[in-house]
Amino acid sequence: MSGDEYVQLLDRAFARMPKLSTEKTDFVIPPADSIVQGTKTILRNLTAIADRARRPAADIARYMSKEFAVPISVEDGRLMINGKFSAEDLNKKISKYFETYVICKECHKPDSHLESSSRGMFSFICEACGARYGIKNY
Ligand SMILES: [Zn+2]
Repeated sequence: MSGDEYVQLLDRAFARMPKLSTEKTDFVIPPADSIVQGTKTILRNLTAIADRARRPAADIARYMSKEFAVPISVEDGRLMINGKFSAEDLNKKISKYFETYVICKECHKPDSHLESSSRGMFSFICEACGARYGIKNY
């Protein structure tokens, strides 16, 4: 096989890979910076996470409260969670939030916003590719 043929083969292999999978890796979800204090877990970088998601911190607090099924409040840009949770627990929920409510399932880009639509639903609107789909409210 000549060098050219090899390159062509690679091109074809890449063309068959899921679209834009490389761009997905450009976007890094901020890892949770959390501590457990007494009976509470404090997520110290809520503001950074909210900025990255381009969502209000209060929305993320609401989501986390629903996911962990515990009361949550926001104090000085930190998320105060009732209960003891590991950074891993938080990271899982944060990733899930980004995957569902921030990153477009069509083009995998995070340039999106939500519009509230009918009861219990959001319209997810991707500003990168124009995709529009319904997702469950939280
Ligand atoms: Zn998109």
